[in-house]
Amino acid sequence: MSRNDQWETVIGLEVHAQLKTATKLFCSCSTRFGEAPNSNTCPVCSGYPGVLPVLNGSAVEYALRAALALGCEIPPMSRFARKNYFYPDLPKGYQISQYELPLAVHGHLEIPSGDGTKRVGITRVHMEEDAGKLVHAEGASSLVDLNRAGTPLVEIVSEPDIRSAAEAADYVRTLRSILTYAEVCDGNMAEGSLRCDANVSVRPRGSTTFGTRAEIKNMNSFKFIEKAINYEIERQIELIEDGGKVVQETRLFDSRTGRTESMRSKEEAHDYRYFPEPDLPPLVLTPARVAEVRASLPELPDARRKRFADDLGLPTYDARVLTETRELADYFEDVVKAGAAPKAASNWVMGEVLRGLKGEAPAPSDLKWPPRYVADLIAMVEAGTISGSVAKTVIAEGLESGQAPAEIVKAKGLSQISDDSALFAEVDAVIAANPGEVEKYRAGKEALLGFFVGQVMKRTGGKANPKRLNEIVRDKLKAP
Ligand code: ADP
Ligand code: MG
Ligand code: ZN
Repeated sequence: MSRNDQWETVIGLEVHAQLKTATKLFCSCSTRFGEAPNSNTCPVCSGYPGVLPVLNGSAVEYALRAALALGCEIPPMSRFARKNYFYPDLPKGYQISQYELPLAVHGHLEIPSGDGTKRVGITRVHMEEDAGKLVHAEGASSLVDLNRAGTPLVEIVSEPDIRSAAEAADYVRTLRSILTYAEVCDGNMAEGSLRCDANVSVRPRGSTTFGTRAEIKNMNSFKFIEKAINYEIERQIELIEDGGKVVQETRLFDSRTGRTESMRSKEEAHDYRYFPEPDLPPLVLTPARVAEVRASLPELPDARRKRFADDLGLPTYDARVLTETRELADYFEDVVKAGAAPKAASNWVMGEVLRGLKGEAPAPSDLKWPPRYVADLIAMVEAGTISGSVAKTVIAEGLESGQAPAEIVKAKGLSQISDDSALFAEVDAVIAANPGEVEKYRAGKEALLGFFVGQVMKRTGGKANPKRLNEIVRDKLKAP
């Protein structure tokens, strides 16, 4: 029996997503990334005594969009709370967060599972402010940068519905896709706009109670999420099989060693002494406001995926790949709107266009080829003006230069030779040059047909229309 048959993994994720507002959650400092340290700060986000926070209305709007996009219920009132702890990146000595009355509850999202999907529950979505950043300088000193302090975040807590590291990565991928569609978060994991804590436990398969969990903090790439969780699963199983016990603790993933290391145990866990934030009134959201924000949401990835499959007839796989980002889905739809058949458009966009984009977040707006050019290219292939393989050359070239397909075909003389008289001449030349092969063919070695076709293709640089060429070669070889 393999371990996988004996043990079941249980995972719940806590994801922090940075909201795309221009200013911070409780002051009007800029949230721009990469500015000079401590340039975007004021008495509020630097934690001076005697100042008062003022809630940023756009941040509430964005958090609400995120919650609604995740199918959450919005209670009529939520409340901010102080989460008290000491750390040098937190000048106030507390973080303003939400605790017993969060902004939103009871949501869900669908992750890919085989040919269908699997639902993962979302326990809650709440708003909170980010802390600053410590920069560990050479030697013993550390520097504090408060530019990030007070940046608006939503924390999205999942139910313990996730069953493997791959599902966890899929969950974060899906979440990122929903948040970027809803335009509330830029999804940039490398810059920390999306960070993930994973709670991981294992239990004997068939057991109905959960095992003790460890929490792995602050992972900011899909690769690390999978690696860290897989390492943690193995560690826990080994520990239990060796007669040990998992202890509830916080662990950190070290990307250099590929291992998770204990950071603090339950005994050392913070007591945050939460209490309601006295400087902010309860946040009341009327049904009318909620309805208004709900109505302003765009078509979300799930709905779009279903529409691509049901209305455009795309295979599940295509629909999933094409809807991963809103930009890519828009690009694909524009190719279809410009006249291409959906499946042909899908093939070219998923193949050559995606190949032309690099990195984790495809940005089709950076492409030098507008969707219309892809549609034109598909039309040229369908009309037999160019072959499929020439089309690949054209698109590769076009993505570099930005030239329209017809221009490239013309400038490089890539038009397919469908003209019979030109093809006759080429075939005649090949036949004249290979009398031995002709004889063998006529004696019954019909497999040689491919040889003659190949020779003509060679002479024409692949531009002969293959269908017509086959017919002509067959014809010419028949009669002496
Ligand atoms: P905390 O308040 O310590 O953060 P929560 O009860 O809010 O704990 O849970 C945090 C996350 O841990 C949630 O995503 C939840 O689904 C997950 N979780 C809770 N228990 C387990 C468990 N036994 N195994 C794996 N994940 C768990
Ligand atoms: Mg937690
Ligand atoms: Zn400020």
